[in-house]
Amino acid sequence: MLLLKPDLPKPSPSHVERAKLELHRRVGGSKVLDAAESCARFASDESEAEGELPDVVVLAETTQDILTTLAVARETEVPVTPRAGGTGRTGGAVPVTGGIVLALTGMNQIVEIDPAEGLAVVQPGVVLGDFHAAVEAEGMFYPPDPNSLSGCCLGGNVAENAGGPRAFKYGVTRDYVLGVEAFLIGGQHIHCGRRTKKGVTGYDVTSLLVGSEGTLAVLGDITLRLVPKPPHLMTLMVLLSDLDVAAKLVARATSSGLIPRCIEILDSGTLEAMRQAGNPINAGAQAMLLIDVDGDEAQCEAQAERLAGLSDDLGALELLVAQDASQRDRLWNARREMSPAVRRMAKNKLSEDVVVPRQAMGELLRRVARTSERSGIRTVTYGHAGDGNLHVNFLWNEPEELPQVDQAIEQLFHDVIDLRGTLSGEHGIGVLKAPYLHLEQSAELIRLQQDLKRVFDPAGLLNPGKIFPSQGHGAC
Ligand SMILES: Cc1cc2nc3c(=O)[nH]c(=O)nc-3n(C[C@H](O)[C@H](O)[C@H](O)COP(=O)(O)OP(=O)(O)OC[C@H]3O[C@@H](n4cnc5c(N)ncnc54)[C@H](O)[C@@H]3O)c2cc1C
Repeated sequence: MLLLKPDLPKPSPSHVERAKLELHRRVGGSKVLDAAESCARFASDESEAEGELPDVVVLAETTQDILTTLAVARETEVPVTPRAGGTGRTGGAVPVTGGIVLALTGMNQIVEIDPAEGLAVVQPGVVLGDFHAAVEAEGMFYPPDPNSLSGCCLGGNVAENAGGPRAFKYGVTRDYVLGVEAFLIGGQHIHCGRRTKKGVTGYDVTSLLVGSEGTLAVLGDITLRLVPKPPHLMTLMVLLSDLDVAAKLVARATSSGLIPRCIEILDSGTLEAMRQAGNPINAGAQAMLLIDVDGDEAQCEAQAERLAGLSDDLGALELLVAQDASQRDRLWNARREMSPAVRRMAKNKLSEDVVVPRQAMGELLRRVARTSERSGIRTVTYGHAGDGNLHVNFLWNEPEELPQVDQAIEQLFHDVIDLRGTLSGEHGIGVLKAPYLHLEQSAELIRLQQDLKRVFDPAGLLNPGKIFPSQGHGAC
């Protein structure tokens, strides 16, 4: 059921032809692709979701390109899927019925950085890593840091409400979005939110659009809050003999009032992938914690000392404190390259993103191990332990194993809900998790959200097949 495409009707060929003609005429030749070989790379993202080849792709460069594309979609009744960096993990940017893909990476200007007001204005196609560099050059800091930061864009981050390792101390993308310019399929062009620190005027439409996965509006300029860059940063790596002990260390650190910038947890399978990728890691280690603390130098040292004490108490095998930026980068680069390293362990990998209360992390990890044993499907788990946000990766080689993969994933979701967790911490629901939405949310809540969607998009043309289960998609 997991990898089934939602059974949604494709737009009629005559409507598609009209849309192509209109887009060529009104947006312009070089920005409109309709040859199959040019459109192919817009059919998928970094998930296992299967899409259709888009009929036509618009490479937007201006707000007028967005407005025109939405007008053509409306007039011809051809669906449109917004797309930024294409690094999504749940198929959000995957066109499940073909139609138009609206690619926004060409809108990549940082419009403004204002350190005095602590804000920046960016176009939706700005790559997150470039934005970090530009902001930090001004002595400011934009905390959200999905590990895909060299490829994902701020429009995609806002649409997914992306998190990342630093979310534990600093929060997620939503905590930094002050306002957005939004284009509605009905032709409306709205600015919502504010540039000021405070503001409570009207409904919080900005927050509704954050995390709406491209289903309510296309985002244009985004106004983001910045904070001062912490002066000092220290990274600790703790190796432990057991994943349970690692979970205990996280619980003790957080309940004793320590607030590291991030606490990443990696299980034994992940460590094996890192060893295979050339990282010399103690052979006895079954778990790793990668911890960043920030603040002034004295605060960093005090936090590091307390963490070292807790690690000793729990019998850590090894504790390494990165002494300089290059050591720190080496540790973090290994963490960032770990996802592709895990991918090399099997022909297929599906990365699930779930959250449980921190105290329940050990129990979830035990249940995942049991499910893996029962189903024969290998799993490796890592994630943002400070938030209880775990990425459970299912690895398999043969298509015949898919039913077991499906069952194992469904079991994971049941366990997460049973432990009072949530189905997604940062990757969104997209197309892959839509069939499971009902496990967490009541029919009334789902209906209310679908009603809201209809207010923004009465004909269901904007990113169909996402978030809500469709006919033939498992849960209807
Ligand atoms: C190796 C790797 C590591 C990752 N690590 C993390 C992590 O630590 N934390 C995390 O949160 N995520 C992580 N991700 C997931 C992914 O990078 C994020 O979801 C990211 O926010 C997607 O951004 P994108 O620009 O690639 O968006 P896309 O994949 O292009 O699109 C994502 C969604 O946003 C919508 N969208 C895009 N642009 C717009 C727009 N302008 N207006 C309206 N809707 C739009 C699309 O329709 C789609 O639904 C990781 C992915 C990879 C491959």
